[in-house]
Amino acid sequence: MDFSLSTEQKQIRDMVAEFADEEIKPRAEEIDETDEFPRDLVDEMADLGLMGMPFPEEYGGAGLDYHSYAIGLEEISRGSGGLGTVVAAHTSLAGNMLYAFGDEDQKQTYLTPLNRGEDVGAFALSEPGAGSDVPAMETTADRDGDEYVLNGNKLWISNGSVADTVVVFAKTDPEAGNRGISSFVVRPGDDDGFHVEGTEDKLGDKGCPTAELRFDELRLPADRRLGEEGRGFVHALKTLNGGRITIAARSIGLARAALEDSLEYAQDREQFDQPISEFQTIQHKLADMDTKVQAAKMLMHRAADKKIRGEDFVKDAAQAKLYASEISREVANEGIQIHGGYGYTKDFEVERYYRDAKLNEIYEGTSEVLRNTIANELLE
Ligand SMILES: Cc1cc2nc3c(=O)[nH]c(=O)nc-3n(C[C@H](O)[C@H](O)[C@H](O)COP(=O)(O)OP(=O)(O)OC[C@H]3O[C@@H](n4cnc5c(N)ncnc54)[C@H](O)[C@@H]3O)c2cc1C
Repeated sequence: MDFSLSTEQKQIRDMVAEFADEEIKPRAEEIDETDEFPRDLVDEMADLGLMGMPFPEEYGGAGLDYHSYAIGLEEISRGSGGLGTVVAAHTSLAGNMLYAFGDEDQKQTYLTPLNRGEDVGAFALSEPGAGSDVPAMETTADRDGDEYVLNGNKLWISNGSVADTVVVFAKTDPEAGNRGISSFVVRPGDDDGFHVEGTEDKLGDKGCPTAELRFDELRLPADRRLGEEGRGFVHALKTLNGGRITIAARSIGLARAALEDSLEYAQDREQFDQPISEFQTIQHKLADMDTKVQAAKMLMHRAADKKIRGEDFVKDAAQAKLYASEISREVANEGIQIHGGYGYTKDFEVERYYRDAKLNEIYEGTSEVLRNTIANELLE
């Protein structure tokens, strides 16, 4: 879909692509090895306006449309899948919860520093016993006068151990099923009772800490609640719809990285006195990889287009995320195959793309759950 990008969208793409090539890619191996949150790169991205891409300038954002945001995230993820998750969780999830459901005061107070990159955001929905089954959550927020008292655990929270602002979902009415969930702004630096229990040692997605959180009699003033009581489940679903477009973007970025490296390697590597790119089998692999990437891009931009127009985009976002996530793993897998034995080592980056790509099929709706969503939309 590059042919239909506006001049401004192309400028954003080129600017972020240059940043990814010059600043992120040279650091990607180190981030993968150390699994440390790359604070300095986040600061640099903040200077470039990349920590609040889709939000209005009045809240410190860059005022970009959703196509540009997705393209930006694609380029960041082409450089490092972990950094892609850092930005996606911060922006699409935490930022969007505040932008879509926060009141004016909450936007000024919490969203603006997120968009400026002064604060880091996280979105805490999942729990040990509540992944796909969100209403099974056990975290509670009991009303006590002008306050809520939070108790419970959250698992798998991207940026959770480094975040300044965490949007937390909790049950305000445990008897009311998915209508009894509300969302709150929690500030780990200010709020007593916020604990980071630890971070996961993951297959990939390094550099983005995935934390387990515990809330122990954590008291919040009532004005930290986002929107009405009982609307948290709807807020989460709406936010995840937009988020899925950016997980498609992360997937495409990783698939493109695998394709680019494979194209280069296939022309360099010689066997039987010729570059392996002369073998038709390798050519067909490259052709399939590029076709999948282009198809995923179209689905991503179609979903972004509907979102921008204010149309229902539930099926489109689910399809974009489902398809892009699966092809990111397939393309990275073929990338390793083209690199042969070398691709199975840490001497080449394709093995990292493969590990990073696998995650796309799991978070923000597993492939199985997304197929349920798409089928429901079809059968409605
Ligand atoms: C690295 C990482 C980062 C994450 N970041 C965040 C974050 O920032 N915030 C957050 O809140 N969460 C986050 N998550 C959690 C993520 O969204 C969940 O892992 C995901 O929703 C799946 O939940 P689960 O792991 O409990 O798996 P389960 O829900 O237990 O699923 C296990 C298997 O059963 C299948 N399954 C479940 N239900 C159905 C069904 N109805 N029909 C068919 N198949 C089904 C699933 O598809 C899967 O294959 C993250 C997870 C990871 C791994």
